[in-house]
Amino acid sequence: MAMSTAADARPKWALVVHGGAGVIERKHLKPEQETAYRDAMARVAEAGAEVLKRGGSALDAVEAAIRLLEDDPLFNAGRGAVFTAEGRNELDASIMDGSNVKAGAVAGVTTVRHPISLARAVMERSPHVFLVGDGAETFAGTQDLERVEPGYFFTERRWQGLERELKRQGLPIPPRPAGAPPPGQAAADLAHDEDGGRNSGLIDLNKKFGTVGVVALDANGDVAAGASTGGTTAKRWGRVGDSPIIGAGAYASNRSCAVSATGTGEFFIRLTVAREICALVEHKGMSLQAAADQVIQKDLTALQGDGGVIAIAPDGDMAWSFNTSGMYRARIADGQPLVVGIYKDDP
Ligand code: ASP
Repeated sequence: MAMSTAADARPKWALVVHGGAGVIERKHLKPEQETAYRDAMARVAEAGAEVLKRGGSALDAVEAAIRLLEDDPLFNAGRGAVFTAEGRNELDASIMDGSNVKAGAVAGVTTVRHPISLARAVMERSPHVFLVGDGAETFAGTQDLERVEPGYFFTERRWQGLERELKRQGLPIPPRPAGAPPPGQAAADLAHDEDGGRNSGLIDLNKKFGTVGVVALDANGDVAAGASTGGTTAKRWGRVGDSPIIGAGAYASNRSCAVSATGTGEFFIRLTVAREICALVEHKGMSLQAAADQVIQKDLTALQGDGGVIAIAPDGDMAWSFNTSGMYRARIADGQPLVVGIYKDDP
């Protein structure tokens, strides 16, 4: 599934958002769930657009939009993140400024409400690009960032998703995290089930994602990209996916484009998906859509990796491409209407 805006449209600003790609078909979503996801995508795209309309930078828009997604338990980022096999939420995020190719990233953080803002702090207020685990937490303590108890990130459906996955793998179920409500007391939620939907034991867990990402172009002509995730359900041994890896899960350069990815991180790392798309644009002169399709529909698919990307270019061109049945997504640009999609056959 691919999309491109008309090449001659040159909006002053533009923004594309995604909320994860995976096995997402009409039969998997109740009408109220579909509405909740569409509303969330629209709300976040419009909030990012507001920042750009007010003359804010692409970086500001990316951070603001991702913070909203990190607060929304529908998505696998911040509150609502998936659990590790040990029953923890270990969060990864990255952000990149295309105007100067500066970048910041964090992995395995457990007490920062908005990992995307910590990634930005790494970029702007540390001499480094990528901080992990305890060191990232220590750095967070030196910054003006909201900290939360690890139980803040807990959602019942993600816990149930973990239990199902651990049972499937024959691994022990860890105790519920401190601060989590007792089983059975969690409010029903609208989130898409981890296994892809009601009565669908056939759906492969690994084919349903939920990472979030945003790319933006501002009135200055600068592009930026960001990504935030809890990673993959029942991840082990300090596993880190592509989302916080600059060039894999996100990349931005005014010389080419800004890209944010979602999918099986191990494949996205091996293909350096985000940078590869920008390199095809920069060095081969490919259109944004053609470059995204080359990497997702051909290279990723050939390796049997699953997922998708959103992308934006300094000329206002926008693209998305995914090889799964769905990707939660929206785009909006100056003078162009908001477009929200979930399924392959959405516009
Ligand atoms: N790419 C993420 C990871 O591998 C997962 C996702 O996009 O859902 O950590």
